[in-house]
Parts: sequence; C-alpha cells; structure tokens
Amino acid sequence: MEVKRKILLNPGPATTTDSVKMAQIVPDICPREKEFAGMMREIREDLVRIVHGDPEKYTSVLFCGSGTICMDICLNSLLPENKKILVINNGAYSQRAAEICRYYNLPFTDLQFKVDQLPDLKEIEQKLQEGDIALVYATHNETGTGILNPIRAIGELAHRYGAILVADTTSSYGMIPIHIEKDNIDFCMASSQKGLMAMTGVSFIIGNREWIRKSGEYKKRSYYCNLYMQYDFFERTGEMHFTPPVQTVYALKQAIREYFAEGEQKKWERHTQVCEAIHQGLEELGFREVIRREWQSGLVVSVKYPADEHWNFEKVHDYCYERGFTIYPGKIADADTFRLCALGAITAGDIRDFFKVFREALQKMQIRVPAVYGTEA
Ligand SMILES: *Cc1c(COP(=O)(O)O)cnc(C)c1O
Repeated sequence: MEVKRKILLNPGPATTTDSVKMAQIVPDICPREKEFAGMMREIREDLVRIVHGDPEKYTSVLFCGSGTICMDICLNSLLPENKKILVINNGAYSQRAAEICRYYNLPFTDLQFKVDQLPDLKEIEQKLQEGDIALVYATHNETGTGILNPIRAIGELAHRYGAILVADTTSSYGMIPIHIEKDNIDFCMASSQKGLMAMTGVSFIIGNREWIRKSGEYKKRSYYCNLYMQYDFFERTGEMHFTPPVQTVYALKQAIREYFAEGEQKKWERHTQVCEAIHQGLEELGFREVIRREWQSGLVVSVKYPADEHWNFEKVHDYCYERGFTIYPGKIADADTFRLCALGAITAGDIRDFFKVFREALQKMQIRVPAVYGTEA
C-alpha cells in the first residue's frame, strides 16, 4: 500500500515512517492475551532505557490518551496532603499545568516568567525556601516558543529543598538526549506521536518507583487518571487497567525499534540538522525568530509575522499544505507568530524543499523578501 508522504512542521504529531504506519495492521487480538502483555512489558522497559534509567529504580506507566493526560496524572497523583506544587511558568504548556492545578483545586504557586525568558533560579529558590513545596513542575522544551528550560538546575534546587521534580519532556523525549538521574528528574513524560514518531493515543510517564509507591497513600483525585492505580495494575498483571489502544501500541513498538536502530546520538544530530536548515531558510528570507538562539531547544522555531500588508498566515499555510507541508500558528500571548518544528522522520533536505514552496507562496502573495519588520526589535 502506498501512503502519500507529508512533511509535518507542526509541534506533533510528527511525520512517521511507512513501517510505523504499517505496524498497526495486525491480526485482531484481545489485549488481555499474554502475547500482548509481553509486548507491553518490553515497551515499558525500553521507555526507561531511552532516558538511561536504572530499571530497579525507575519504571514507566502507559496511559491511553494524548500527552496532556500525563501532565494531569502527575499533578493530581503526586501531591501529599498539606503540601504545595510550584509551577515554573514561562509558556503555554506550563500555563496548562497551572490550569490543571486550578481545576483540581490543588494548592500551588504559579511562578510566572516572561515567555521569551529563561526562569530565574534565584526566584525559584526563594519560593522553595518559603517551605511546603513537595512538587516542582517544569516544562523542558516549551513547545509554545521553543525555549529550553534548565531542568537539571531546577531539579537540583527541588531536591535541595526535599521536593520532587516533574518535568514535562513531551516535546524533547526521544530527541534531546536525557539522563533521568543525572538530569535530576523524578518524573518525566511523553507521548508516542512526538519524539518517538509513532501514532497518537498512547502516552507515558517515566518515574521513580519509590515515589510512585509512596503516592499510593496520597489522596486519590481521579479514578481513570491515577498514577499509582495504573502502576499497581501493570505490576500485578502486566497490562493497562482499562482497554489499551491496541494498534497504536503496535506502532509504538515498531517506532521504538526504529529509535534504537537510528541511535540516540545520530537521531539528535538529524534533528539538529533539520533545525539548522530551518534557521538557514528563515535567514535567507529575512524572517525573525522570537527566542534568542542560545536559549532555543533546537526543535521548535518561533517566527515573528512580518509587518507586510500582504502577509496572511492562513493563505501561506494553505499554499504549503496543498503541496504536502504543514506549518503551524504560534502560541504566544501577545505576539503574532508561527512555528516550524524539527520533529519527526524528516531530513534537512525536506526543509530545503519546504522553503522552495514557502518562497513561492510569498511571491504569489506579493509578500516582500527579505521580510519587512517595523521598528520593534
Ligand atoms: C504536545 C505537548 C503536550 C501534550 O499535548 P497534547 O495536545 O495533549 O498531545 C504536553 N506538553 C508539551 C510540552 C507538549 O509539547
């Protein structure tokens, strides 16, 4: 079967290989069979291995849902009585974490920073000194802007004050090399459709077994979305508590095989080359980026809309989309931006092909090249 190849430059789901797509076509199976549980066990071990976790100390727990389910679960499951959460908030995804805390009525501090700035470690330490914080929550690659937060330093501070670090690594896992223990992470998370380049529908939390076991005694705030309950079921039976997304799990298994075949370092180099091609293409057209280059994750590039009367993101998007390239609007409060992401099974060559089409779109619409900007920086 031929499937048309599309280049997704949106922040996930990512472009997948045909072999991952085809891995979903399997004989019907009841996921309560030993064969399926055996595959789940291997996947759980591999997900820990990807972040170099000691399997005695760390485990992974899978859930049926998109990435946000992991944010929800970590926040609602890992807070002991009479303690607080500290959300380090410098972007749309941390903002989402703060909203989750609000919806569950969890005691939390929303420590806000500018979206184009790194969080201030001194301010974080001050909040920790005030006491009562048991859980520090930070986003690694803030996908809304592409800023990379210093989770290792944040984790070190958290540990110094007896708190755990929950890091949202949804858009860095499987791309930026992560070492769960050296990076001072107690819990991280991802979703199969981002760095692992598989299908949407299965997400996972990787974390410290001891803390998960402890959390068994914490207040249960959700029935479907509780970390300990799902962990306990997996440990006893090897299965998800409720029906897993069967075909999506087969695709994930294949994607993990391809991850290890490509190799951690090689894969990161490929993403880096893709990102460099994005920077180069933008520079050639005079487009300006939002985040200082040295603070960027190397996976998401946020671009300012030019101050050109002919600029129309929708129309540029549609022109590119019709030719197989998907670009994505920004997620930055008061700035008009769009994003180009270096996720997925794509190469620097795909990016060069994209810029040919993008340039055509600009010409067609009489948008000036190099792009024009007003007086603001
Ligand atoms: C994609 C992503 C999520 C999950 O978003 P969903 O829409 O639920 O898939 C969470 N955090 C970050 C940083 C992400 O990039």
